[in-house]
Amino acid sequence: MITGKNFIGNTPSAKGTDHLTAINPATGEVLEGAFAIATQEEIAEATALAQSAATSFSQVSAKERAAFLNAIADEIMALGDELIQRAMAESALPEGRITGERGRTCNQLKAFALLLEEGSFVNATIDTAIPDRQPLPKVDLRKMDIPLGPVAVFGASNFPLAFSTAGGDTASALAAGCPVIVKGHESHLGTNELVSSAILKAAEKTCMPNGVFSMVNGSVEVGQALVTNPSIQAVGFTGSYRGGKAIFDAAAKREQPIPVYAEMGSTNPVLLLEEKLNTSAEALAEQLAGSVTLGVGQFCTNPGLIIGIESDVLNTFSQALGKALAAAAPATMLNKGIADVYEATSSALANELGVTTLAAKQTTPGNQASPLAMEVSGDTFLANPKLHQEVFGPFTLLVKCSSSTQMAEVVAKLEGQLTGTVMATENDLASNGDIIQALQNKVGRILFNGVPTGVEVCPSMHHGGPFPSTTNPKYTSVGADAIHRFMRPICYQSWPRAALPDALKNDNPLGIWRTVDGDFTNKPIS
Ligand code: NAP
Repeated sequence: MITGKNFIGNTPSAKGTDHLTAINPATGEVLEGAFAIATQEEIAEATALAQSAATSFSQVSAKERAAFLNAIADEIMALGDELIQRAMAESALPEGRITGERGRTCNQLKAFALLLEEGSFVNATIDTAIPDRQPLPKVDLRKMDIPLGPVAVFGASNFPLAFSTAGGDTASALAAGCPVIVKGHESHLGTNELVSSAILKAAEKTCMPNGVFSMVNGSVEVGQALVTNPSIQAVGFTGSYRGGKAIFDAAAKREQPIPVYAEMGSTNPVLLLEEKLNTSAEALAEQLAGSVTLGVGQFCTNPGLIIGIESDVLNTFSQALGKALAAAAPATMLNKGIADVYEATSSALANELGVTTLAAKQTTPGNQASPLAMEVSGDTFLANPKLHQEVFGPFTLLVKCSSSTQMAEVVAKLEGQLTGTVMATENDLASNGDIIQALQNKVGRILFNGVPTGVEVCPSMHHGGPFPSTTNPKYTSVGADAIHRFMRPICYQSWPRAALPDALKNDNPLGIWRTVDGDFTNKPIS
């Protein structure tokens, strides 16, 4: 049952008088629940509780934290059809997508549990003492990663499960040993409450300290109060550039600035190189149209920018792209705000000088979006920064460059991106080395003859990229390495052996892999 309450640790709380409501974006229906906006007092309680839980949670063993994460996955599955139906109603995403996302959410939690059980994620590095070193003795130094402290998580509207309440940010922060406070996304308030209750049940069953997880509802003021609260030590965010940058700036202005890991999306450029295009223009158009319209284009990896060199074959490609997008059915977006922004930004681009619309816009009732493609010359693109902005939805812009020199100029002008894709033959790669190198410098993941939508969750994935796609290009928000966002190194110098953490003890009681005097080993130190 939906209560509309915040969770201050394991206590449901609704002290405020203002409420938010959840709306089905497909029908406009107001869904069950009046969600109490958290008061400043409740935010202070949640952050104080998180701070007091931080010490005891950091001392919970990695294996016990793994049991907690596995229990969260079990409790999410135990929510059954109620969760699936609520997430569908709140997001307009189809059942297959939501059940797939639930599976991904649980698998992420279980993958972090395995990482914790194995134990080497603490990056233990040991340099033993050399007392007789000349001219000076060398001291004993032992370094490992420890949790940062309470983390505020802002879930994404476009992944109500996998990038929201128990999504990648929460899973990696809890895995790191940090208490989490989630600011519920207004787009899926009921889903957020159900998943929050599952996390709290799991915390209770596995005896985690009260305050290890809290959830508050509200809008910008609640988010700002969280980020600026002195107890919060890091932030995980997925959403718009405007929101992410505002949170980053607020965190930087604090008396104690804290890291903000904001993933803010990108246009994900696709380069069409000559030999590849000549052999498969229509197939490429079909493939890219499928990627542009997947999930109503509401992916941060949507291929929103396609770059080719003027030719008859590129014209064949653009016609085929326009035809494929015109044939794709309009579909409902995640919420009215996102649908309105899509309509406004795509209409504004269509009115920019030199922009030609390839797929005629279809009439779309309610919050539906019509798939769209537009094209411009390389000159127009280079001269107009408005054409470089992301249009969040089933949209792509084709840039027709006059030459490979201009293609290189266009790539050089791009901002930082999550992904870059090269549609090419091996000959194309060899003859466009400089362009490929320039693209590599702009992106976090570079693809060869594929589409950027579809982000595999595994240790080698990097879902991040140079600013403004994220606020920190060194870190991924997907995959095992996401845990390192919420940990920091500490070095023990000449510390008594018995008082060292297990990860750094000579006999290696955890059996983990460590770097000892330059060797990577899981053996004890003799
Ligand atoms: P958003 O507006 O950035 O909001 C994300 C979260 O941050 C929400 O919980 C929001 O609270 C909060 N927030 C926003 N501005 C804030 C501020 N100044 N201070 C504190 N908290 C703040 O993103 P969205 O609602 O998911 O979607 C809006 C747009 O974001 C889309 O049209 C799209 O352009 C982009 N988007 C990008 C991605 C991506 O993958 N990078 C994903 C989804 C959306 P409120 O809801 O209360 O405002």
